Amino acid sequence: MTTLMDAPLRAETPPKEGLIGLDRETLSEHLAGLGVPERQRRMRVSQLWSWIYVRGVTDFELMTDIAKEFRGTLAAQFALPRPEIVTEQISVDGTRKWLLRLDDGKEVETVYIPEEDRGTLCISSQVGCTLNCTFCHTGTQRLVRNLTAGEIVGQIMLARDRIGDWPGATPPDPTGLPNGDRKITNVVLMGMGEPLYNFDNVRDACAIAADGDGLSISKRRITLSTSGIVPEIPRWGEEAGTMLAISLHAVRDALRDELVPINKKWPIHELMDACRAYPGLPNAKRITFEYVMLKDVNDSIADAKALVKLLAKIPAKINLIPFNPWPGAPYECSDWEQIEKFAEVVNRAGYASPVRSPRGRDIMAACGQLKSTSLKQRASERLAAQA
Ligand code: SAH
Ligand code: SF4
Repeated sequence: MTTLMDAPLRAETPPKEGLIGLDRETLSEHLAGLGVPERQRRMRVSQLWSWIYVRGVTDFELMTDIAKEFRGTLAAQFALPRPEIVTEQISVDGTRKWLLRLDDGKEVETVYIPEEDRGTLCISSQVGCTLNCTFCHTGTQRLVRNLTAGEIVGQIMLARDRIGDWPGATPPDPTGLPNGDRKITNVVLMGMGEPLYNFDNVRDACAIAADGDGLSISKRRITLSTSGIVPEIPRWGEEAGTMLAISLHAVRDALRDELVPINKKWPIHELMDACRAYPGLPNAKRITFEYVMLKDVNDSIADAKALVKLLAKIPAKINLIPFNPWPGAPYECSDWEQIEKFAEVVNRAGYASPVRSPRGRDIMAACGQLKSTSLKQRASERLAAQA
């Protein structure tokens, strides 16, 4: 029976604070708040960090090197939550896509692409995107907020749960998983959103992902893709230092203005200057240039030659991406023959195997197909999954 005395008490119980995505310093402050003496805090933070990011535990009770009583104190105040899964789809090629619901009900998508010897996780940085590249499905979604560092790291945690990528874990469904010990070897910020418009949270999340005593995904295996937010590119190099990918898609300003409208603000030559000056480039790093193949729009041989010329002095990789269609898209994917001819020009200039094969198209998980809030879209995805 609920009495008048305990009803308000229950209503006032504050939600537990999630620890995922907090840096060591903040964790240490939280421990101080629980009365952990200063000389013990470093060690306690290391213990917690390891349980959270090396073992992937979500229950404080399993942290056996922490005293039982203190485990109880932690569990009473804090949680190690994952985003809620709305749908999980597994493509015939093993690609997985999760539609995830965040605490405020907003939704984002995360995609995992397994290959024989590696696995790439494509994560989102925003709900929707404020930019509106004409070929991109995400760009048609208006609702936008930045994801927190915890929500960005949370996508990695959730994916590792679902593919059994923690020590001793077994995957619920092993379809197409890589052979090696680690199922997620690479992370790309190529999901929903423009990551450089959520700079601080994405940077903090990458620092946690790259932490050698935790998730341990080296910065050379994390790639941030940007549509070309030029002033943030040098800062990203200095503060985060991950690999960089540029969504180029056109070699002439008139066309790029149309396809990637942020080009009107920062045109191609400014973008190229920022790439040439990207901190870390001299250390044998390369910048990846993404180029979506749109039939009769940007796929001529003249475009291919101009592309090679534009990138001549930059250590570059070129990724030709067959356009992934979505309902109502105003473009078609270039014919395969044309992609091959285009690729040949690029290959002859010394760029190896540049065509990115579309993965997970049957579950709308391929580049640019992500979009979360449209009910219509979700219904069609569910149908696709059932089929
Ligand atoms: N906002 C960032 C990162 C997310 S988009 C950016 O634009 O770079 C990730 C990649 O998918 C980008 O290169 C983007 O241009 C590409 N892309 C978007 N829509 C696509 C589509 N329909 N088909 C193929 N690639 C697409
Ligand atoms: Fe946003 Fe990138 Fe899509 Fe452009 S391509 S609308 S920047 S997510």
